[in-house]
Amino acid sequence: MAEPLLEISGLTARFGEIVALDVVDLTVPAGRIVGVIGPNGAGKTTLFNVICGFVRPQSGVITCKGQALHNHRAHDMAKFGIARTLQSLGLFAGLSVLENVLVGATVHARTGVLSALFALPRADREESALRDRAMAHLETLGIGRLADKPVGGLDHGSRKRVALARALLGEPELLLLDEPAAGLSGREIEELADLLPGLASSVVLVEHHMDLVESVCDDVAVLDFGKLIARGTPDTIRSDPAVIAAYLGEDANGDA
Ligand code: ATP
Repeated sequence: MAEPLLEISGLTARFGEIVALDVVDLTVPAGRIVGVIGPNGAGKTTLFNVICGFVRPQSGVITCKGQALHNHRAHDMAKFGIARTLQSLGLFAGLSVLENVLVGATVHARTGVLSALFALPRADREESALRDRAMAHLETLGIGRLADKPVGGLDHGSRKRVALARALLGEPELLLLDEPAAGLSGREIEELADLLPGLASSVVLVEHHMDLVESVCDDVAVLDFGKLIARGTPDTIRSDPAVIAAYLGEDANGDA
């Protein structure tokens, strides 16, 4: 078994009476793509929100490369080598594709605000290197030609790639993707499946599209009403009676 990059144990998060995560344990080994699936309201997004410091859990421990994430905040994530995309994408419609990607760079730049303000040479060099890196990610994701276009005029699939490029700019070791296939065409999902394994050492993928989960995930964790009800390869998960029961009434083979 590869060394764990992220380890979660006993994680509980409540919103009033609702137990969104109920003593959840999850390990993400280095070099693996882990899928997190489950019916609507199962706790998947809350899991990401807790890892990223958006939501404070009532109990539990999260460690990244052996270092405890405790009382951390969303802007600390880059230091731990973790990046995330949001379901809502969080892009600025009036800014260009490249500018949207560079917005994510502020947390990663080493240059101080003063040297940036006075455009000192180091700030220039860092900005130029960041732009090169941003362009390289846009090229990898097949949208380099759109770098100067305003995001507001792009189709949904391209906007999702911009959000992904922004997450990649910090060169994360662990990438958390919240429903990256939502709203994409079948062809776009296939392209995403080809790209995903090369994007970061480890990926955690919250996804309803089982085709994508089955094609890219090494293993899959299944949440239901905040509890981890199964963990295993996509094949074992598909035939797990508890998983089938959880999805009863939903289409486990496609969109939920
Ligand atoms: P979906 O697949 O529909 O996105 P999910 O598995 O991501 O669902 P969560 O969004 O994590 O589920 O929600 C888990 C539970 O916690 C749900 O019952 C939801 O209504 C509740 N919940 C999530 N966020 C909040 C919040 N900020 N305040 C109150 N309740 C919340």
